[in-house]
Amino acid sequence: MKISVAFLLLCSSLAWGRFVPPTPFELEKKQSLPDSRTIDAYLATLVTLSPRARLVVLGTSAGNRPIQALLLSASPSFLQHPANEPHKPTVMLFGSQHGNEPSGAEAMQQLARELVAGEHAALLGRLNLVLVVMSNPDGRDMSSRHNANDDNTNVDYVALQAGETRLLVDALHRFDPDVVFDAHESGIWKRVLTREQGWMTDVEAQFDMGNNPNIDGPLRDYTEGRLLPALIAGVSAAGLAATRYRGEITSLEQAVSRGGLGITNLRNYAAMQGRVSILVENRLDNKSGTYATPRNIAERVRKQHLSMLTMLQLVADEADPLLAVSRQARQRWVSADGDGRTLWMGVSFGTNRDKPEVTLPLVRFADGHKQLHRFRNRDAIVVREPVTLAAAYAVTRERERVARWLVQHHIAFETVAEPRELPADRLKITAVRKQPDARPGVREKVRAEVEVTRDAVTLQRGDLLVPMSQPLAPLAALMLDPRSANALYQEESWNWLQPGEFPVFPVVEY
Ligand SMILES: [Zn+2]
Repeated sequence: MKISVAFLLLCSSLAWGRFVPPTPFELEKKQSLPDSRTIDAYLATLVTLSPRARLVVLGTSAGNRPIQALLLSASPSFLQHPANEPHKPTVMLFGSQHGNEPSGAEAMQQLARELVAGEHAALLGRLNLVLVVMSNPDGRDMSSRHNANDDNTNVDYVALQAGETRLLVDALHRFDPDVVFDAHESGIWKRVLTREQGWMTDVEAQFDMGNNPNIDGPLRDYTEGRLLPALIAGVSAAGLAATRYRGEITSLEQAVSRGGLGITNLRNYAAMQGRVSILVENRLDNKSGTYATPRNIAERVRKQHLSMLTMLQLVADEADPLLAVSRQARQRWVSADGDGRTLWMGVSFGTNRDKPEVTLPLVRFADGHKQLHRFRNRDAIVVREPVTLAAAYAVTRERERVARWLVQHHIAFETVAEPRELPADRLKITAVRKQPDARPGVREKVRAEVEVTRDAVTLQRGDLLVPMSQPLAPLAALMLDPRSANALYQEESWNWLQPGEFPVFPVVEY
């Protein structure tokens, strides 16, 4: 009894003169994880305790569990009608998109409790927060990476097969965040590396950013040159060894690179929309270790909380330069290269010629011995096939299905009412080549060789025209163009890449 009273006093605090209860996880003395219903009930309690908190239902999961956003803000107007305010970044945090990486959701509840209680008081004056504490509540309850329908939403941002991904995309559109923070955990135990070769990875906090080379140039430069190094330095200074993410290390022989380049993940998808986008991959300790709490969950939550809080403080300090680049990027995309309208259809990792090898720490599973290992360094981003952004894309096949998919992405289009002749680039696929299976960072399964012919093309009634004058144009082009490594047609249910004239093509003028 004594212990629990002391514990309550430690973990709870007063909000506006009211008692703010500890999170369910804290109440369980960090020994077991609450289920999604208990977390929902806790969030509902928090909003009754503060005029600065509001809960918004985003939709329901495949397993019929609610997915909610907790808004925290000192601006009553933001809580009522969320819209961006001058000088005040809107930051959207996504917890536990992978249900078997639970510490993000726990850290976010703790952060919400502290903010409701008036801790970190300056933050709510400087930021508007949108916390999706459980991005995948099915996965939380099933301890699964996937939802109840076995979808991995984390690679679904192009196809939008899963309802969860669609509602998270809707939420991005609705709250229009300047910053997106995606919280994950990365297991240190790997099948080949650990079981067969005897080593575990040794990482604490790893950060990455939207790294697709087609992201708005100034936004990408700012994130890579300023924000990410400052975040890594800040988390390290707070006592948690932080590094840039090296991707998953699963064997001694592999090369290392960075987080995936594809726009199928939330990090790059959000960055292609013109948002500062940050990924954290914190240490997920192995099952066989001995810890004070099950699988070291208390310590893992502490690390996530520190990563999140440091990020929020940095974003508040960086508000002006950050808002300048992110809001500009959402108004008018400027490519990193060429004339400002150049998209690279092919993206992959290649050998870093300045630094062809890196050493990374590993821990021997048998006795905990730490040792640096040499890895080939393939973190250089290789681009191919530059294409100047067209005036529009025409869609002439499965038009109703494509229209529904465009609506889900909030991409604007018009439907051709009468036959209409327009100058366009006909795309003729001459060959389709299967790509090697294991290429880190890239999901390009097949590559189409395309012959381009400028011609006058007559569009028929019902064809779609997707204008490239809209803010989401570069994202739309990368998904619609068959030459793109990230095209929709890389997805199983859109298997359109076959020799012959392609039914989606750039329109030169319209
Ligand atoms: Zn994950």
